[in-house]
Amino acid sequence: MLHCVKLVGDERRAHLANGDQATMTELQTQTSAPVAQTADSPELETSAAKALFSGSILARQLFPFPSIAEEEREVLAMVLESVDRFMSDHEERFADWDQSGEQPAEFIEGLRELGLFGLIIPEVYGGIGLSNAAYARAIEEIAGHDTSTALTVGAHSSIGMKGLLLFGNEVQKKTYLPRLASGEMIAAFCLTETGSGSDAASIRTRADKNPDGSWTLNGEKIWITNGGIADFYTVFARTEGESGKISAFIVERDWDGVATGAKEDKMGIRASSTTTVSFSDVRVPAGCLLGEEGKGFKVAMAILNNGRTGLGGGAVGGMKRCIELATEQSQERKQFGRSISEYGLIKEKIAQMTIDCFAAESVVWMVASYIDAGSEDCSTEAAISKVFSSEAMGRAAYEAQQIAAGTGYMRELPYERIVRDSRILTIFEGTSEILRLYIALAGLKDAGQHLESIRSAVDDIFNSPIKGFGILGGYAGRKLTQLTTLGRDRIVDAVCEELAPEALIYENYALRFARASEYLLRRHGRNIIEKQFALKRTADIIIDMFVGLCVLSRASELRAGSDPSAPHAIEIARVFSQQAKRRMKQNLRRIQRNEDEEAKSLAGYIGELKKYPWDVV
Ligand SMILES: Cc1cc2nc3c(=O)[nH]c(=O)nc-3n(C[C@H](O)[C@H](O)[C@H](O)COP(=O)(O)OP(=O)(O)OC[C@H]3O[C@@H](n4cnc5c(N)ncnc54)[C@H](O)[C@@H]3O)c2cc1C
Repeated sequence: MLHCVKLVGDERRAHLANGDQATMTELQTQTSAPVAQTADSPELETSAAKALFSGSILARQLFPFPSIAEEEREVLAMVLESVDRFMSDHEERFADWDQSGEQPAEFIEGLRELGLFGLIIPEVYGGIGLSNAAYARAIEEIAGHDTSTALTVGAHSSIGMKGLLLFGNEVQKKTYLPRLASGEMIAAFCLTETGSGSDAASIRTRADKNPDGSWTLNGEKIWITNGGIADFYTVFARTEGESGKISAFIVERDWDGVATGAKEDKMGIRASSTTTVSFSDVRVPAGCLLGEEGKGFKVAMAILNNGRTGLGGGAVGGMKRCIELATEQSQERKQFGRSISEYGLIKEKIAQMTIDCFAAESVVWMVASYIDAGSEDCSTEAAISKVFSSEAMGRAAYEAQQIAAGTGYMRELPYERIVRDSRILTIFEGTSEILRLYIALAGLKDAGQHLESIRSAVDDIFNSPIKGFGILGGYAGRKLTQLTTLGRDRIVDAVCEELAPEALIYENYALRFARASEYLLRRHGRNIIEKQFALKRTADIIIDMFVGLCVLSRASELRAGSDPSAPHAIEIARVFSQQAKRRMKQNLRRIQRNEDEEAKSLAGYIGELKKYPWDVV
């Protein structure tokens, strides 16, 4: 059992001046939590989403659907119950705080008392020690009541202090984690700057090394969630030249030269704190370097990848709320002599919200379970879960408000706030556009790297099968399997009987998609990076395929457990798969036949004019 040290002010700074660095392996061992179990012996070194680019469905990573570890179920149930009680007690106040743009200090104190700032901090440091999967579920519960509160807690845990959990050395952890777990310190993640949003590598905040090993930090970060209430900042700064490498640092709010700006007047999530955080000749002790010098970009990306399921969980919580509001409203509201819930167009909306929610919940849980199981490569899946769940939440908010119609437009009801609050989800922690490019390029890169080795191995396989198979691993092996159909992965046996036709859809489209990926790589080579229309279609196909497989896995699991809701989960899986099939078919077709050049030409024309040029008079 480790004993946590509690240091204050200068004492803490001196302690950190001599900080030692634990190895990554040690740190990863320390931060792994007992978790939702993934499928039996999952191939954790391989990405299930990237494997789809070679036509391979890694059944063992997708089936059976992961379940929560028994020892964690009870703890999570207690957390959910106390969150629900606490948030319900404040339900009447959230609209006022949205208007005033602030959460009162006593409310934040209540969050502290509940232990919500320590959800994912290991028990040994005073936290609750939830797995990523259970944490995502807890954020879902909070977001079901109020998005701003989910953000205050989520920005602290998912990104604010995640770098410390993932990359901090033992001294740093002992120094800060107990105070972060209790909420004595609230954390924020400081990456974005005026000139640097999606292009995070272009930051200009600088940290210059002093002769004594400490650093002098200068720069300004913008739109920092928790900026005004945080005491602990994970800050990214350039530590070499104008375009040189980036490093990550721990910075405390009360150090000389740290200042925060006025709270931003935002469209949504208004009660959560968003401010600038600036650094003027701030002296940062040597021991506050987080991870290795010059590896800060990797730290930032690891934090964001690891934290995406928290945001996904929040989106699921918001969608469940929308479904509750929409069903209640549609049953109460009567038009043309009948309750509007009886009309097909309203039923369609409620069914689609439910399908989207089930799909988002399934993919978020699957990805969180990969992270908990120590997956070495699930950043593509994490990006998929973020894009899908955030966009699904946007659709649910829109449709819930549409069902409430005029009533939904009025401020006294929560619909308009939900619409405003949900809008941010596709913007921060990676925009949908950037994440789609990432999803497509990460898979194609993996595929491209192996094309050459495959070509020679395919020749080899027929001359010398043992040698041919022997030299192949990972992508190349799967690709060869696809080309020769020998030992092809089948999921039709992994799903419940009723979903066998849907399993065949994904098996079939995985092969078609592999051929399309290869076509793109052969046609464009390295220039594929510039072909954004094609990359978007590629990402959309992979999103449909991976999310659809998660849905099949979960519905099959509910059927296997004779869950009473299983017949409806099967309906969801059927509808989602058919919808996905139509989208995949269309996207595949448009990889070769499209109007991209016309669209680009039109955007260029309008861009030159800077306005819409036509009028009917
Ligand atoms: C309320 C709020 C809270 C936030 N909290 C934090 C926080 O806690 N910490 C933090 O560091 N940051 C935070 N951010 C910043 C947020 O992460 C950025 O807004 C986001 O990364 C996008 O950057 P940008 O707004 O500068 O958009 P830009 O990068 O300027 O993008 C503008 C548009 O262009 C698209 N685009 C950009 N590049 C490309 C490309 N190569 N190809 C195609 N399309 C492209 C984008 O997708 C977007 O649609 C927050 C922002 C907001 C609004």
